[in-house]
Amino acid sequence: MIIFDLACQHDHQFEGWFQSREDFDSQLASGLISCPHCGSLDIRRVPSTVHLGRSGTQADPPRRESPVVVPAVDGRAGALQAFRHMTELLLANCEDVGADFAEEARRIHYVEAPERSIRGVATAEEYAELLDEGIEVFRVQRVKPGDLH
Ligand SMILES: [Zn+2]
Repeated sequence: MIIFDLACQHDHQFEGWFQSREDFDSQLASGLISCPHCGSLDIRRVPSTVHLGRSGTQADPPRRESPVVVPAVDGRAGALQAFRHMTELLLANCEDVGADFAEEARRIHYVEAPERSIRGVATAEEYAELLDEGIEVFRVQRVKPGDLH
């Protein structure tokens, strides 16, 4: 996309947005570009300082700024919602092995049990041992789906 600064023979200036230089040329030749102020078809390009996608020096600051739409999200509420969502996914996709967690995690790690995501409870010692053995465990506060609402 390229922006050309245009003007009619009465020096009414306006902008035109085009796919390319060729697009501009063909629209101009077809009389598709008219002055929004007086309707004149006698349009010419005037020197333009800003093109979209332009790279290079910062010597002349951009005259236009692209609108940036940032969804309004309450940071804290948004983070809490994301955490809930993640936890619910975790709970839904993991097999609950309860107090056998450490043993089952070890069996999975040593390929004695089918590989899958599990959850359960482990003591602090068990947790430390699992980490020592290089078993990936992820400790979360103990939650039930009902706790999140
Ligand atoms: Zn005009």
